[in-house]
Amino acid sequence: MNAEIIAVGSELLLGQITNSNARFLSEKMTNLGINVYFHTTVGDNKGRLTEAIRIAEKRADFIVLTGGLGPTKDDLTKETLADYLGKALVIDEETLNTITLFFKQRKQTMTPNNKKQAQVLEGSHVFVNHYGLACGLKTNTKPAFLLLPGPPKEMYPMVEEQVIPYLAKKQGASDVEISSRVLRFFGIGESTLADMLDDLIENQTNPTIAPLASSGEVTLRLTAKGDTDENSLALDKLEKTILESTRSYFYGYGKDTLPTVLGNKLKQEKLTLASAESLTGGMFGEWMTGLVGASSFYKGGVICYDAKVKQNLLGVEEKTIKNAGTVSMECAEELAQNARKILNADIGISFTGVAGPDSLEGKEPGTVYIGIAKKSGTKSFPLHLAGSRDQIRERAVKYGCFYLLNE
Ligand code: ATP
Ligand code: MG
Repeated sequence: MNAEIIAVGSELLLGQITNSNARFLSEKMTNLGINVYFHTTVGDNKGRLTEAIRIAEKRADFIVLTGGLGPTKDDLTKETLADYLGKALVIDEETLNTITLFFKQRKQTMTPNNKKQAQVLEGSHVFVNHYGLACGLKTNTKPAFLLLPGPPKEMYPMVEEQVIPYLAKKQGASDVEISSRVLRFFGIGESTLADMLDDLIENQTNPTIAPLASSGEVTLRLTAKGDTDENSLALDKLEKTILESTRSYFYGYGKDTLPTVLGNKLKQEKLTLASAESLTGGMFGEWMTGLVGASSFYKGGVICYDAKVKQNLLGVEEKTIKNAGTVSMECAEELAQNARKILNADIGISFTGVAGPDSLEGKEPGTVYIGIAKKSGTKSFPLHLAGSRDQIRERAVKYGCFYLLNE
């Protein structure tokens, strides 16, 4: 099935809001095995919306429209589509009851235009809006049109709770189940990873492999089409083959993040952690304390930005700072060791480096040292990171998590 997503709203064209609905819907459609071939954005204008529908009808079997289902004059998606398809608009009683109750509970008067939100195209399947007033609907036409409210806080749950199960059931009728698995990698670029898996990617049929890079991480989405058990076996087999050559960069699945995987590992192994952060100014601590149950493994940390804080609070030797500098393996190691000792943790981690844009101590922006101290000894990891100040700092924290996971 090939789909087109039409976002309706002049505010999108004026640059006042980002078309995040299209991103969300594309992701969900892809997960369902529906190919999204076009994104269209059109203003709240009947003529131009009709034109967009006309074009989409020629090239898609499934057309998703979001926005313009509200009560006001500029909300005209349903009316426009009804006119275009020559269908009548009829009241959906369940939605009308919900809207009536909404106003009654708030002791507000319901105006006639609110009734508009309970209108649906005759013969369509209705999705009740549990988070707002305007209902969504899917027409029984060919191609089919799916109409969804514009506000993300109404549209997202409607899609997740109702539309996806509805569409999956329809697809299930054709006996083809679509299963996806996302593998997450860190410390390797997208092109290098794709290169390592060149043969697999080149010869992919079912399951398929789709690499995606963002924020210094790479994911591989494996998608299998077939019967559920077969899919699961095929995905297991492909994952095993992929990891044979890439395991050292692999850290998790799906919604896993480096800090969540690290937190789980520390909890499982009953280890505690303390940090000394110069370059990252507390970002690592912020990530750790953001995890549920952080108190069981994270002792705390020191933001030791100034050399004197490194010396006075974390006991870095004066000669280390004089000879090697604050951006050095030696300093990173002392910081990690002393954070571990002073904060009484099993593991100490430190971050020191140059976030840029200027050089420091004759070292270029992106020069980073991460120290990790354990009972068994201390190690430091030199890195040369590229990017803006923010990117360098964030990547350093990710590398810190990654080293803690793998060391
Ligand atoms: P309402 O009942 O709130 O009028 P609606 O279905 O008529 O809902 P719109 O009027 O088009 O939807 O948009 C309402 C709000 O929803 C917008 O102001 C915007 O905040 C958000 N929104 C609409 N379309 C999008 C989109 N494509 N991406 C992200 N947000 C959107
Ligand atoms: Mg509106």
